[in-house]
Amino acid sequence: MTSLPASVDVIVVGGGIVGLATALALAEAGAKPLVLEAKSFGGAVTGGSLAAIGVHMHGLEEYALLTEACGLWRSFSDRSGDAIEHNAQGQVGFCLDDEDIASAESWIAEERALGAPYRILSASELRALEPGLTGPVRAATYAPDTATINPFRAARAVLAAARAAGATAMDHAPVTGLLIAGGKVQGVRMASGQEVTADAVVLAAGPWSQEIAGAEGIYVPLFPRQAQCLAALRQPAGTIRHVVSGVERKGGVDSGYTQIQQAASGQILFNTVMELMDTAPNAKDAVREVPPGFVMSSIDMLVTLFPGLADIALLRSWVRFEAVSPDARFLAGPLERDGLWICAGDNGSGYCRSLMLGRFLAGEITGKPVLDAALRADAARLYAPKRFAGVAA
Ligand SMILES: Cc1cc2nc3c(=O)[nH]c(=O)nc-3n(C[C@H](O)[C@H](O)[C@H](O)COP(=O)(O)OP(=O)(O)OC[C@H]3O[C@@H](n4cnc5c(N)ncnc54)[C@H](O)[C@@H]3O)c2cc1C
Repeated sequence: MTSLPASVDVIVVGGGIVGLATALALAEAGAKPLVLEAKSFGGAVTGGSLAAIGVHMHGLEEYALLTEACGLWRSFSDRSGDAIEHNAQGQVGFCLDDEDIASAESWIAEERALGAPYRILSASELRALEPGLTGPVRAATYAPDTATINPFRAARAVLAAARAAGATAMDHAPVTGLLIAGGKVQGVRMASGQEVTADAVVLAAGPWSQEIAGAEGIYVPLFPRQAQCLAALRQPAGTIRHVVSGVERKGGVDSGYTQIQQAASGQILFNTVMELMDTAPNAKDAVREVPPGFVMSSIDMLVTLFPGLADIALLRSWVRFEAVSPDARFLAGPLERDGLWICAGDNGSGYCRSLMLGRFLAGEITGKPVLDAALRADAARLYAPKRFAGVAA
């Protein structure tokens, strides 16, 4: 069993994919990081993810950073001997009505202007690519570069790589507070009563980051949002060939979004987000079941699109909590307390961004930039926690 060091360079609070990726990048940059995870590594939203890795229909202003993020996952897959089941199957975004088509055309025009190889497919082109999708789809977007990875395997592989690079990581090690002296964060206090000192502390605890900072009067505008998913029994390989998604409308996932894909195991994974789910601060600590309305609307959507799956048997369902920020972007950078950093606010697509964010933050903390200058400038501008300075709790 790993024993808790008394002092390290950087403490990362939270062992989800964002904390693990940050620890990996810090260790590779020469720092000695310690990851403290309250429960099990990857056991929160990370393990409940569909882990699509792509640029399509995400923020246009993050285009270059997301392209970097996808490339980092491709390289990590190569380096780990494909232990993470990286599958570059592409993504189709289905259009059911005129509003979807208008939204799809606007996304594709803006993404193509940035150099993306995306296009609109006619209904017959879509059927040729995704033969089981015989529902009333009128057109689709096509992003050949979207991939998926196995979220459990990827978290384990990033943890192993971080340890191999010199990081220490402990699970079942909840942090209960920050050590602050002379206005500077000096380390953390554990539930066990032990204290660990460090030059820097990174909050990578998803929606729980707000509570840890809030206990010291530091306001972090992150809110838990309930997300859920269903898995159906194994189907023959190739039943669903792409990541099949709804075209995202203005207002993002809160206004309606569907994601359907087939895992390497053959299971069909699917969900439909119809509305903003429970965002009460304490909801994330309760054990939740998926709401019946969600089950029905998700099955309806699956069977509408793939009528051949009408008799499909459900295998399992799960609820997790994402961390949502007011402008749907991560908070990654220094907080208003010397020595305190944050990397949280996934807004439902933090798996994709995690390796890129970890490298950005490692560069900022160690003072030895890892991302190239243009990407670093984009990240510093887009993710700066200080954009919310002055926002009251
Ligand atoms: C159904 C579903 C589908 C998704 N699909 C995609 C997708 O296709 N692509 C994509 O990119 N993303 C997707 N996501 C989102 C993605 O999973 C998350 O953005 C990502 O996993 C966030 O990782 P995290 O490390 O920030 O959070 P978490 O995994 O929540 O990690 C935070 C960790 O902090 C720990 N912690 C909390 N408090 C403390 C404390 N006091 N001390 C120590 N540790 C603490 C928690 O136990 C937890 O393990 C999906 C999510 C869901 C639910």
